[in-house]
Amino acid sequence: KGPVSVKELAALIGIKPFQLIHHLMEMNIFASMTQLLDEGVIQGVCQRLGITIQTDKKERHAPVHTAPLGKPKAQAPPPQPLSNIKSRAPVVTFMGHVDHGKTSLLDAIRQTKVAAGEAGGITQHIGAYTVVKDGRSITFIDTPGHEAFTAMRARGASITDIVVLVVAADDGVMPQTIEAINHARNAKVPIIVAINKIDLPGANPLRVKSQLQEIGLVPEEYGGDTIFCEVSAIKKIGIDNLLDMILLQAEILELKANYEGNAKARVIESQIEKGRGPTATVIVQSGRLKVGDIVLCGIYYGKVRALIDDTGKNIKEAFPSMPVKVLGLNGAPLPGEELVVEKDEKKVKEIVQERIEALKKDREASLTPKVTLENIFQA
Ligand code: GDP
Ligand code: MG
Repeated sequence: KGPVSVKELAALIGIKPFQLIHHLMEMNIFASMTQLLDEGVIQGVCQRLGITIQTDKKERHAPVHTAPLGKPKAQAPPPQPLSNIKSRAPVVTFMGHVDHGKTSLLDAIRQTKVAAGEAGGITQHIGAYTVVKDGRSITFIDTPGHEAFTAMRARGASITDIVVLVVAADDGVMPQTIEAINHARNAKVPIIVAINKIDLPGANPLRVKSQLQEIGLVPEEYGGDTIFCEVSAIKKIGIDNLLDMILLQAEILELKANYEGNAKARVIESQIEKGRGPTATVIVQSGRLKVGDIVLCGIYYGKVRALIDDTGKNIKEAFPSMPVKVLGLNGAPLPGEELVVEKDEKKVKEIVQERIEALKKDREASLTPKVTLENIFQA
């Protein structure tokens, strides 16, 4: 007779968890994937869906962990204390055809959620920012969608958890829309569709839906599992709903990270700034990045001199999914490069030296003309 989680109930009644969460939302119940639902709620939602259920649900058994027999592996890392693994904010990238409204949407979100928000400060451009909606954070990458995304992908890195595909309601699916979909699919990143510019007289959201359906992005109302939102960045319509849908998608992904230990982060932007030297905006992927840490990033390294958050504040440490500007590197690393904390400065210098040597070799190899019989005779 124990309670059933959202995930379990969805499986029991044969719908996708996010669909169930959606129905619950419409009943004003904001549940997460793992949230346990009481009987009243279960009956309520089943009634909505026209499903009759028997109330003798399975007993919940606590999972039994048995220690492995035999010898433990010598190199096995100590198990992470479970309490350090916590859910983290989704990292979101906007993609879509030029002029369909990516920048405007990012601005609209920032204006409604950051500038007018609690901190009240002027947002500093650091290439990414975090907004808080109903106590939950979302990190938006603010560098031109495609470029950042492709740069990351070129390094085999993916920091984006969710792609918001922006399609203008008056223009419909265009070449870069398709390109964006392909990028997201190759990276196995889920897509939320934001149909923008619904304020325009020529807006035709239905047409956009059927165009996207043809290429496999099927809205929920047609039986698919892609979340669609209708928005206007200019008239600020549907912005809150879009944020809710991002949080819903994040819930489904069950994003988690370790909040302790040496940080690992990814560069999204870098610059050489007057008075600051090289700076790199990174998004922390795991662990805790602190002022004073020795960091290694591509062919650069240094001691973290300062960390600046997206509101321009100096902070002492940064946690998973937080965008933060790092000061103290001896050069500007490329987007997508991994930044790691290393205790041993000597080791850091060695690694950097090796990397520089390897780069030099690569360059020489590509500059040396290949001598073959053919090009000797051609010469
Ligand atoms: P991006 O190239 O995808 O970043 O597109 P932009 O955000 O720069 O927007 C391109 C143009 O569309 C600009 O002139 C915006 O003012 C306009 N635009 C963006 N969103 C909306 C919208 O919701 N409604 C209307 N009417 N215009 C919009
Ligand atoms: Mg733009």
